[in-house]
Amino acid sequence: MIKEVDIYKVISQHLEMEQFFTGFTLKGQPDKLEPQAQEDNMAVAEKAAELEKIAEEVNQCRKCDLGQLRTNTVPGEGNPNARIMFVGEAPGADEDAQGRPFVGRAGQLLNKIIEACALKRSDVFIGNILKCRPPDNRDPRAEEIISCLPYLQRQIEIINPEIIVALGAHAARTLLNTTKSIGQLRGQFHEYYPGIGRPPIKLMATYHTAYLLRNYSQENRRRVWEDMKSVLAELGLPIPERPQK
Ligand code: URA
Repeated sequence: MIKEVDIYKVISQHLEMEQFFTGFTLKGQPDKLEPQAQEDNMAVAEKAAELEKIAEEVNQCRKCDLGQLRTNTVPGEGNPNARIMFVGEAPGADEDAQGRPFVGRAGQLLNKIIEACALKRSDVFIGNILKCRPPDNRDPRAEEIISCLPYLQRQIEIINPEIIVALGAHAARTLLNTTKSIGQLRGQFHEYYPGIGRPPIKLMATYHTAYLLRNYSQENRRRVWEDMKSVLAELGLPIPERPQK
């Protein structure tokens, strides 16, 4: 049962969330986030088919113990040609129930952030380091990451995004192969190496939306927004502003 104090926290966070990541507008004509090669529909269809194959493999996967515990796998979803790919840690209870990434409260906040960027969820791809929910949302274990990471690596290779946004320490540390803290990693671009012969992909680390919900300070929200503004600027996309009151 949710404690009374938590209900107030949830309500106030919800109201603040409504306030903070809303009201941003683009000055002038909004530029659409054109997928990289929209003119090449065939390539998009091929990418979608490759991603579907990975999702099917994930559905059959029993490489680690999480395979026995899941209700649904959560392979990830979104635009096969996305310029931005968000990578979280692992599915939670809502994601496990629905088989879709970021659909719980952390997902609602991610939706808000995406909308504040004047983007749609369907513009981006959203995935996770683990494709199955760890029990009680515990941290991913090394052997689980080792088993699961190849799926994400292949998804990144197929989508070939211009920027990866790593949400939280687990995603950032895994993709950057570092033990640095999220505080040290966030706020600047790093390089993700997709493999021999392929150019590095820019990676922005920022706070996980679940962390942000737990630590909902003005400063933390501002930091996430600064990180997302850097992403938009790097992609040459317009940065929405709040109208001056
Ligand atoms: N947190 C994550 O890291 N991933 C999800 O899909 C949902 C919550």
